[in-house]
Amino acid sequence: MANIHKSITELVGHTPLVELTNFNRNNNLKATLIGKLEYFNPSGSIKDRAALNMIEKAEAEGKLKPGGTIVESTSGNTGISLAAFAAARGYHLHIFMEPGCTPERVQILKAYGTTVQYYKDIPGFDEIIAKYGFDKERIIAAMQKFCDDNGYYYTSQLTNDANWQAHIKSTGPEIVEDTDGQVDYAVMLAGTAGTLTGVGLYLKEHIPGVKIIGVQPNLESMYKPGEDRDTIDGVVHFDNDGKVTHPFLVKNHFQCDEVIDVDGTETYATARELAESDGIFAGASAAAAVLAAKKVALRPENEGKRIVVILPDDGTKYLSTRMYGADI
Ligand code: PMP
Repeated sequence: MANIHKSITELVGHTPLVELTNFNRNNNLKATLIGKLEYFNPSGSIKDRAALNMIEKAEAEGKLKPGGTIVESTSGNTGISLAAFAAARGYHLHIFMEPGCTPERVQILKAYGTTVQYYKDIPGFDEIIAKYGFDKERIIAAMQKFCDDNGYYYTSQLTNDANWQAHIKSTGPEIVEDTDGQVDYAVMLAGTAGTLTGVGLYLKEHIPGVKIIGVQPNLESMYKPGEDRDTIDGVVHFDNDGKVTHPFLVKNHFQCDEVIDVDGTETYATARELAESDGIFAGASAAAAVLAAKKVALRPENEGKRIVVILPDDGTKYLSTRMYGADI
């Protein structure tokens, strides 16, 4: 029977779980690492889930009209997801980029017909920085005003419940279904913490005893403008008690069972190892999550346990970084 989809929006989710068989064996891991390969989403990352859910919620609420303009600030993947779906549904997308994005991301956005600007281009941004420093709540308010003044729709992924709810709707249930509920740990990083909140809440409700591990780059591996280091961008740090630091973030402020720090240089080495061992070409946060999961899997008490690791995207958007080496 023919099986032809009408739009890429129909292809979001149902990403595969795959055991990191060779990596597990080569590292003598006590527990089994299983990757959830989010690069199988139609625009190549986990953010397809949140982006589509935010667009569909805005459409349902009548806030996004045919031919309308969507606005977001993003370091990359959310923008790319919104760009693909805006194209497929006939909207225009206007993105304000955070500093530190790789040039590939800008190229991809432009390929989808997106208007790309930077934070400094947000009307009022310079005044906010001069008076209050990098105050995200004021920046969000400035973005909202820009949209209200122009009749645009601001998806506001940091404050939009449709972000984390996307993972209650799809990512969490997929993990439970594809493992028959046999999961001991789930490991991931946080950008908006939409994934962590949605997956964390869903798994905690459906799998007794499951532990949720948050991962963060160590201080040296956080992106800072002008520094040439092995960094992991687009992600945030947790508070000491395992909550994410954004004060206005997803409302549940999901609390992790444990937070693991990873080093950027070790993360890049893990990415190269995984590509060679299992043919999995991971992005930076994906490799960081695998590295943290490896640390958990080496603990003697975790013999025979099962660890699901979220791999948010693949390595193509990191080719201009030092991750996969510049030599060709
Ligand atoms: N990894 C990558 C590569 C991302 O682009 C993002 C989103 N910025 C995340 C992880 C974190 O996802 P979330 O926003 O759901 O926390």
